Amino acid sequence: ESFSEMTLAPMLMENVSRCRYTKPTPVQKYGIPVVLKGKDLMACAQTGSGKTAAYLIPAVNHVLVNGANPPVGRQAVPSALVLAPTRELSIQIYEEGRKFTFRTGLRCVVVYGGADPRYQINELARGCHVLVATPGRLLDMFSRNNLKFSGIRYLVLDEADRMLDMGFEPQIRQIVQGPDSDMPRTGARQTLMYSATFPREIQQLAREFLHNHTFLQV
Ligand code: AMP
Repeated sequence: ESFSEMTLAPMLMENVSRCRYTKPTPVQKYGIPVVLKGKDLMACAQTGSGKTAAYLIPAVNHVLVNGANPPVGRQAVPSALVLAPTRELSIQIYEEGRKFTFRTGLRCVVVYGGADPRYQINELARGCHVLVATPGRLLDMFSRNNLKFSGIRYLVLDEADRMLDMGFEPQIRQIVQGPDSDMPRTGARQTLMYSATFPREIQQLAREFLHNHTFLQV
């Protein structure tokens, strides 16, 4: 199957063509149609598999098809959220997200720790439809009311095993199911988890965060 058979929004299809991704990689070929149907997904995929585009293409399509949330004052109300373990990875995801949101009217924003928050806060305030974030900085910004989670309909945990290895499980749980979080609950949003390995801790998170999910190993 090629990208042109995936029934993507025309503006997004143009951006995919511009990337010269002519042939989908396996995680894209098998994963994107499942995700476009609205199903939750647990995918075991390595770096270099093309997993970033596999979840970003349906993310951007989701917002183009279903419409964006209006902002609430200076608070961003993203529709799609991607959690990633490191600053470096989140920047890479953001750069790929910029390619797919090009000339769509949608804004992709990245927030990560270890940098001055002021620029990131301003970027959120200017509007954010697809947000890429590391867990600690994201919670920081949430607790300072720079954004709401209530509009999130599409949630991705990328490199979930690495996020747990780095000790982010409490932060991830706070974001996804914490008593102070306004994140739509499991089933009320679409959730995708990508992990290179599938240990018990990841299986447990998948049980809690995913609803009737498809399992994909590439
Ligand atoms: P990832 O596994 O998401 O880190 O992607 C690895 C690299 O493959 C990135 O540099 C992507 O830009 C590139 N890539 C992703 N999908 C495709 C594709 N279908 N064809 C060619 N290159 C791709």
